[in-house]
Amino acid sequence: APRKLAAGNWKMNGDLAALAEIETLAKNHAGAGCDILICPPAVLIHPAQAVAGGVVAIGGQDCHAKSAGAHTGDIAATQLRDAGATHVILGHSERRADHGETDADVNAKAQAAHAAGLIAVICVGETEAQRDAGETLNVIATQLAGSIPAGATAANTVIAYEPVWAIGTGRTPTNDQIAEVHALMRQKLEGAIADAAGTRLLYGGSVKPSNAAEIFAIADVDGALVGGASLKASDFGAIITAL
Ligand code: 13P
Repeated sequence: APRKLAAGNWKMNGDLAALAEIETLAKNHAGAGCDILICPPAVLIHPAQAVAGGVVAIGGQDCHAKSAGAHTGDIAATQLRDAGATHVILGHSERRADHGETDADVNAKAQAAHAAGLIAVICVGETEAQRDAGETLNVIATQLAGSIPAGATAANTVIAYEPVWAIGTGRTPTNDQIAEVHALMRQKLEGAIADAAGTRLLYGGSVKPSNAAEIFAIADVDGALVGGASLKASDFGAIITAL
């Protein structure tokens, strides 16, 4: 089984003062049994990396598919790398919803991330309407097929399953529902990714200290992508310990 990953997505939260949380994580979790990643807003990547002590990896939350040019407001994967990022979240449902990102867009961004030497954390997940309609497995399979670029490997790609209806809601799928989707993802990665068995599959959506251990015990769950509970070193530290 791959080494587990505790990943935090700060979304549009945090400021320079919040870097103290990363410093605390680095101090408290050196030698942790899992990899630790925090993806703060882009303006915090460089200072975050400076306090992360090599214990906490730092990532971006999006990148452009091109390496440079006339794209006001966008950030290239190479620039994330230059600022000290080693990872980038791509295709988060908030990007797909707020910015109309398609599977093809995510695929192109992941290619750019790989070319820049970044690990792409590719997100997939069904809406509540899609789950109610019994479309979950088809939706996930389609998103994976479209979003994973040629050249993806267990070393340069992480997949995060984030049901849209579980994000920030306090609601989570049942353990059986998580296991079902993760088993499907593992199977669909065969042929799409070099070393499907070694690829980290994260669960995301309302992960918190009180449910982390139970979720991490589910087959084919190799870690978590955590939003709200990644903002404080105390909460995220408890999740890291549960892994
Ligand atoms: P919450 O942990 O706040 O539900 O957010 C999950 C998420 O979207 C992480 O990318």
